[in-house]
Amino acid sequence: SSGISSFKTAAKKSTTQATLSSYSNNGKKNVVILGSGWGGISFLQHIDESKYNVTLISPRPHFLFTPLLPSTPVGTVDEKSIIEPVVNFAVKKTKGNVSYYEAQATKINHLDNTVTIKSFSHVNPFGDSKNPESIKKNDSADIKYDYLISAVGAEPNTFGIPGVQEHGMFLKEIEHSPKIRKQFIENIERANLLPKGDPERKRLLTLVVVGGGPTGVETAGELQDYVDQDLKKYLPSIAEEVQIHLIEALPVILNMFESKLTSYAQKVLEQTSIKLHLKTAVSEVKEKHLIAKTKISDTETKTEEIPYGTLIWATGNKPRSIVTDLIKEIPEQQGSRRGLLVDEHLKVKGLNNVYAIGDNAVAGLAPTAQVAHQEAEYLTKVFNKNQVGSAKPFKYLHYGALAYLGAEKAIANITYGKRQLYTGGGLITFYIWRVLYLSMIISWRSRFKVMSDWFKLALFKRDFFK
Ligand code: FAD
Ligand code: MG
Ligand code: MG
Ligand code: MG
Ligand code: MG
Repeated sequence: SSGISSFKTAAKKSTTQATLSSYSNNGKKNVVILGSGWGGISFLQHIDESKYNVTLISPRPHFLFTPLLPSTPVGTVDEKSIIEPVVNFAVKKTKGNVSYYEAQATKINHLDNTVTIKSFSHVNPFGDSKNPESIKKNDSADIKYDYLISAVGAEPNTFGIPGVQEHGMFLKEIEHSPKIRKQFIENIERANLLPKGDPERKRLLTLVVVGGGPTGVETAGELQDYVDQDLKKYLPSIAEEVQIHLIEALPVILNMFESKLTSYAQKVLEQTSIKLHLKTAVSEVKEKHLIAKTKISDTETKTEEIPYGTLIWATGNKPRSIVTDLIKEIPEQQGSRRGLLVDEHLKVKGLNNVYAIGDNAVAGLAPTAQVAHQEAEYLTKVFNKNQVGSAKPFKYLHYGALAYLGAEKAIANITYGKRQLYTGGGLITFYIWRVLYLSMIISWRSRFKVMSDWFKLALFKRDFFK
């Protein structure tokens, strides 16, 4: 892994070199974090490693700045600009023992206070690579914890709709982005070989985005931007035939915004020629078309067959199996189908020393980065002040919501708790959107790269290569 050398640098600086085996003997409690997303990395950043031995376990060796993921398939922002290696965060923790395992946690053994992990490689900054405890490729091991912080997130939900898994594409992790781009490019190339008016040409140039939340809307907007701003210059006749559909089961898109802003958003999308299907549910996906059912009245539905070349599925998440397995083991205190129930201190109900933050926790809050980040900050404060068990309850402060619509227009509702600071839509909001997203990026390297991507975009076309 590219980060091993960085870890060694940190180890030299450290005065307390120790391996996992001796962690339990140095008098400090072992805090084990699962996940390298918004919850896990925010927790790692804020925990005082001079007070705890910290171990982070995640199969994904990078943090992903999800808010800008919809910008990457078409190359508005480069994929590498919005990921940051876990080791870049870990090397900053020089005051104590911090370990990273590039591994998947497969089971939480709450009776033994251990987590079973399956490893891809092992990176321990303070350990010796010849240490017998080092685990090798595809080995598994049990990691002991005094406190466990579960921040494994969630996975895309297909709602059991046939064909979605086989034919649809998700936009949740960084590797999804080049897959979408590749498929769209291949479809453009194939369509270009077919005569105008050929239904296969039309199909190849049809993109369907399912899900009218921020991810779906921003993805549709970015695709349309590429078509209008770049593709039109290379292949005008192809560009004018591309049709993007956005399908939403509710009567509105972006339902977290007030109605004035959602109507504005709908108007912008329609002006840029995105076809909106509201009150519409996808019931089946085949290789080259899908079935959509639109509610016309309480008793009537219209069924439509939509041929597509690219299908992007962005309808929400479901819990991962490590979470559902744990829920099954403590059925009296758990039982939600959405994730781990936590108390007001974010402690998993029914367990003494396991906490859950972010999308894998159910605390009545939306599954957002904003929530995951604040939960992590709260919990690290409690741990750093040694107030575990006696702290004030977690309180969420809502800073509002933002969404990019395409055509350099965005909507925003910026708040401070219940106080509204700004609400609006348009070009100025788009610049506010950019500034706020930049400020939310949690590493300077990433912030610099995104800024230069935007600067480059003002001068050149998007990087849109296979
Ligand atoms: P994640 O960030 O998903 O992290 C989960 C981590 O756990 C990952 O590192 C994963 O690899 C790891 N993991 C998975 N399984 C295991 C396992 N078995 N063992 C160990 N580790 C495991 N929110 C906002 O507030 N604003 C936005 O603008 C916004 N835009 C978004 C755009 C997109 C395209 C997407 C997909 C989401 C967006 N969100 C946004 C939502 C936000 O990204 C999530 O709410 C947030 O990532 C939740 O943080 P998390 O730590 O719970 O999960
Ligand atoms: Mg996480
Ligand atoms: Mg993330
Ligand atoms: Mg994340
Ligand atoms: Mg949550």
